[in-house]
Amino acid sequence: MRIDLHTHTSVSDGTDTPTELIHNAVAAGLDVIALCDHDTFGGIPEATAAAAAAGIGFVPGIEISCDYQGKGVHLLGYGCDMEYQPLAVELAKIRAGRKQRLPRTLGLLAELGVPVTTDEVMAKVGDAPSVGRPHIADALVARGHVADRKEAFDRFLADDGPAYVPRYATELLIGIDLIHAAGGASIIAHPWGRGSKEVLPESVLTQLVREIGLDGFEVDHNEHNAAARAELRALARSLGVVALGSSDYHGTGKKNHPLGANLTTEADFHRLENAMSRRHHHRG
Ligand code: AMP
Ligand code: FE
Ligand code: FE
Ligand code: ZN
Repeated sequence: MRIDLHTHTSVSDGTDTPTELIHNAVAAGLDVIALCDHDTFGGIPEATAAAAAAGIGFVPGIEISCDYQGKGVHLLGYGCDMEYQPLAVELAKIRAGRKQRLPRTLGLLAELGVPVTTDEVMAKVGDAPSVGRPHIADALVARGHVADRKEAFDRFLADDGPAYVPRYATELLIGIDLIHAAGGASIIAHPWGRGSKEVLPESVLTQLVREIGLDGFEVDHNEHNAAARAELRALARSLGVVALGSSDYHGTGKKNHPLGANLTTEADFHRLENAMSRRHHHRG
């Protein structure tokens, strides 16, 4: 079984529509796929229908922008009730923060000599409800300021870059509780990617599992080297939680993240399914 549990569509900062994602997943020989767009469930209905028509397993997911001690942490939720109001309200608040920071980012880019207009960015956003830095990157590419999204992040938009503007994100512990309250399973995305190991060392991941019931974390991800994967896998095994593997596919938006680039094992997928059904049945 080929199981890829973290992907994006054009509903956030990927480039495939949900239907295209499913067709590409079938073409990549996947048996199960999860869609985890940033801070929105907007693509789930279309992807669910396309997956049913294509006969591929589908898990509805989300990737929530969280904050832990001032650092951005991405939190995956699987099998959440999309109608659960406290979660829906929180996601709307994050999406509003994404829009609100745009003028300041564009101001900084202009000062840096690489101006783009709001309209140029919005042309890249299209009708996606979740506006992200990758859309700004695409506008910079269209203007010829940079060659691709990676150069835009490396030179301007990365968290420590000169055009970075912070935005609202949910406190991590609250995010985990919201996912559980919505009947979903909680998994921290790429915990040791891009310098987040300092805020999420083994001791913190252990505490999150033991004290608030985090259901697992991503292990096989392109931002983790072999040593990080080995350590995280051993930790997940010792804690008895899900060790997730995924491509974090963004369509043509991210090179080196093709569908199936990393997979979740069947054993870990069963662990995730168990966590989802436990969360589903234990809802308050
Ligand atoms: P935002 O959602 O606006 O905070 O932008 C973060 C998104 O941009 C991530 O989910 C990735 O898809 C992408 N991203 C973040 N850092 C980089 C980077 N250094 N290079 C390329 N893409 C990145
Ligand atoms: Fe993304
Ligand atoms: Fe992420
Ligand atoms: Zn992602």
